[in-house]
Amino acid sequence: MGDRAPAHHAFPITHYKYWLMELCNLSPSYVRAIAPYQPGKPIAELAREMHLAEEDIVKLASNENPLGASPRALAAMENVLMEIARYPDGNGFLLKSALAEKYGVALKQIVLGNGSNDLLELAARAFLAPGTSAIYSQYAFAVYPLATQAAGARGIETPAREYGHDLKAMLEAIGDDTRIIFIANPNNPTGTLLGSAELEHFLDQVPHTVLVVLDEAYTEYLPEAQRSNSIGWLKKYPNLLITRTFSKAYGLAGLRVGFALAHPEVADLLNRVRQPFNVNSLAQAAAVAAMQDEAFLEECVEINRSGMEQITAGLSQMGLSHIPSAGNFVAVKVGNAAAINHSLLKQGVIVRPIANYGMPEFLRVSIGLEAENARFLEALEQSLAQEG
Ligand SMILES: *Cc1c(COP(=O)(O)O)cnc(C)c1O
Repeated sequence: MGDRAPAHHAFPITHYKYWLMELCNLSPSYVRAIAPYQPGKPIAELAREMHLAEEDIVKLASNENPLGASPRALAAMENVLMEIARYPDGNGFLLKSALAEKYGVALKQIVLGNGSNDLLELAARAFLAPGTSAIYSQYAFAVYPLATQAAGARGIETPAREYGHDLKAMLEAIGDDTRIIFIANPNNPTGTLLGSAELEHFLDQVPHTVLVVLDEAYTEYLPEAQRSNSIGWLKKYPNLLITRTFSKAYGLAGLRVGFALAHPEVADLLNRVRQPFNVNSLAQAAAVAAMQDEAFLEECVEINRSGMEQITAGLSQMGLSHIPSAGNFVAVKVGNAAAINHSLLKQGVIVRPIANYGMPEFLRVSIGLEAENARFLEALEQSLAQEG
């Protein structure tokens, strides 16, 4: 390289810094105030930090599907690989048609998203602006405050009830400027579930001028008896928007694909602020194939059910309490979660500390395969003994 400074350093560095600060200060204050989303630690990063082999690391931190993706989804992607030079179908006709058939809705009621995260943001962009507000619960999914803030709207956080949504408090928080209420059912990171009757009663009372975003990212894991007929409610509540994802039970998190169901007029608004090609062609093809592989989905749900039993039994044996969860993860109270987490990492086990959710005594662990769950329980026992 020699000792000559690269050309761009010829530009006086002090001016450069000052200009940059001036530039960034022109970003709206509500954007500058956003605290970035904290994702689960990637396996490769922990391997580097702790000098561990990647294959010895167990990651139970992002509610990913431990069985991977359906082989039919993988095969479907191979078929479209050869056409990857072409833009995807911006209307997602084949995927929307499959969804319309499965869920008994019209094509124009469906909005496709780059993960359901995209749909939460599209809802925020379509309905929120400075001078409006959105309501979400304490301990609810972190994307709701992020999407609200990025739109310049005011976030109203209502206190949780037993770690779940307090629907009465949410109703009482509605103001003249409220445009959206975000509800996660089941909720992440707590796993709490609202009952169907309770939710319907809530929808009856929400003013029709407030959009209810019902985030059902984990709905496939619910036993039939615990499911709400949320899609049926669309006929009754034009202000309801349901989001679903292929990231969790369908095992396609890396592809980024989800969908929203709503009244056609509401769907139309989201589609106006949507990037024309927000869902790539591999994701569209894989999602269609994944929906057809019902046997794989059932297997995933069953593995999750037995893994949940295994983990919660193990936690109880250690004398730890957890929040009963309807998802593919469970929040466990460990005391000094930061210290326990560090000790788990040293043993090659990645889970999710949720201090950023205001739960510094908890760790959230995703349900894995039987051997992964066992590794987690063993490592946790070790960590607790060291703490002890
Ligand atoms: C994981 C998750 C999502 C979104 O995941 P995508 O991968 O963006 O579809 C949405 N809501 C909740 C509550 C989640 O836990």
